[in-house]
Amino acid sequence: MGRRRAKATKVVKKKQPTMQTEFKCPFCNYEKCVAAKMDYDKETGTLECRVCAATYTATINYLSEPVDVFSEWIDQCEAEDEERAKRDAARDRGEDVEEDAPAPKRTRIDFADPAEDEAEVDPNDDPALHAGL
Ligand SMILES: [Zn+2]
Repeated sequence: MGRRRAKATKVVKKKQPTMQTEFKCPFCNYEKCVAAKMDYDKETGTLECRVCAATYTATINYLSEPVDVFSEWIDQCEAEDEERAKRDAARDRGEDVEEDAPAPKRTRIDFADPAEDEAEVDPNDDPALHAGL
C-alpha cells in the first residue's frame, strides 16, 4: 500500500484564530482541565484531565484537531453510559449480564484508624482531667 509522505511544510489554516486545546472534563466536569496533546508523527491524540487524571487516546490523522479527539471521547463516554444502562436494565430483568470489565476496586479508607487517633492526641491534654468530670 502507498505510504503517505509526511509534509514538511506547515499547513496554515484560515478562520481559526486559536485552536482549542483545553476542554471540560466529562468525568469531573471541571472546565478547561483537559489538555490535549497531538502527536501527528505517531498519529495519536491524547487527552488528559489535570483534575481527575482521566485519559483518552485516539488515532488521529494530519487533519485531526484536539476538538476532534475530544468529541470522540465524549461519544465514547456516551456509548459506554448507554451500554451500562442497557446492562443495568437487563440485570433488573434478572438476566445474566456479562461485564466487559471488572469494576474498579475502591481502596477502602478507614477513618477510624487507631494509629491516626493516637497521633492527634495532644500530649498536654491529660485524659485524667476529663476523667474527673
Ligand atoms: Zn476530570
